[in-house]
Amino acid sequence: MTIKSLHKRESDLAQSKNQLEILSNGIFRNGDLPKFKDKIAETNQFPLKAKPLEILQINVGYMCNQVCKHCHVDAGPDRKEIMTRETMQQCLDVIKNTGAHTLDLTGGAPEMNPNFRWFVEEASKIGVKDFIVRSNLTIIRANKKYHDLPEFFKKHKVHVVSSMPHWTRGKTDKQRGDGVFDSSIKALQELNAVGYGMPGSDLKLDLVYNPSGAFLPGDQASMEKDFKKALLEDFNIHFHNLFAITNLPISRFLEYLIASENYEDYMYNLVEAYNPAAVANVMCTNTLSVSWDGYLYDCDFNQMLELPVNSNVKHISEYNEDLLEGREIVISQHCYGCTAGAGSSCQGSVA
Ligand code: SF4
Ligand code: SF4
Repeated sequence: MTIKSLHKRESDLAQSKNQLEILSNGIFRNGDLPKFKDKIAETNQFPLKAKPLEILQINVGYMCNQVCKHCHVDAGPDRKEIMTRETMQQCLDVIKNTGAHTLDLTGGAPEMNPNFRWFVEEASKIGVKDFIVRSNLTIIRANKKYHDLPEFFKKHKVHVVSSMPHWTRGKTDKQRGDGVFDSSIKALQELNAVGYGMPGSDLKLDLVYNPSGAFLPGDQASMEKDFKKALLEDFNIHFHNLFAITNLPISRFLEYLIASENYEDYMYNLVEAYNPAAVANVMCTNTLSVSWDGYLYDCDFNQMLELPVNSNVKHISEYNEDLLEGREIVISQHCYGCTAGAGSSCQGSVA
């Protein structure tokens, strides 16, 4: 089990340029596999262009109480990057003035940002249609000061989306750390107790599944059935939807692929499973990702690879819809993760 972030360990992979080099060299440089750009050009889908903004995803910091093996953020307790209230205010100003229907707060553990509750209170007043907080569940149990989060989420009608790699302790703890399963189950029961995830409830509770190894997720609908059955029978837990997400070959998952000698096979699998129908719905075309320091990216993955938006507008404080719409999306070989099989986005399958 990894116990420190790549950054703390001063790993070569902590530098995004080294990750990008791996993704552009070897099997992609020698022509064994086509580059993503060439692949999408086969179906006249290059360049990918941004459509009107629908989802604003804000990463409020890389600090997390967990250090999951496959984290694409390289988050952990040792990451200190945290969004300030000033940057949050700039985000609020943008949310008020755009047609975005979804606000999506992520991290790290977003709840660990000291201004998280203030931000949620302010953002919930704006009245976006879908206000998502990506909670890792264990944060609810991590410290007394977080125990009231289910009530807080309920008060602000937040849509809770939580990672849950499996319905068994062994598989979950292997990926996310010892004790994570038990703590997540307790947190889910507490969310259910205030009404989250219950049949017919409008307090939305969705789970995110991502594979625990170098393989692609199975069919989202059948996995959802299996998860629902097992969690209900074993723990009396209810939830609404399961999103199946493909692990993208970046950050700590890239480290895992290389260390387990699975990198090339995994890339072959992604390219083999390439689905041109998924390209039209990749999330970067209607999403903007804001980093903890206010810079703009086409998606959270590009944020971690430090690939900024291809626009004169680079920061949330300079937001300009006209200049951002129609921009060319910045792509590399990690994008194959979004177009394999049924496709993958923060809302699960896309095709
Ligand atoms: S809980 Fe999420 S952000 Fe935190 S280490 Fe795990 S995957 Fe990364
Ligand atoms: S990784 Fe980001 S830029 Fe690439 S296809 Fe996926 S969402 Fe788009």
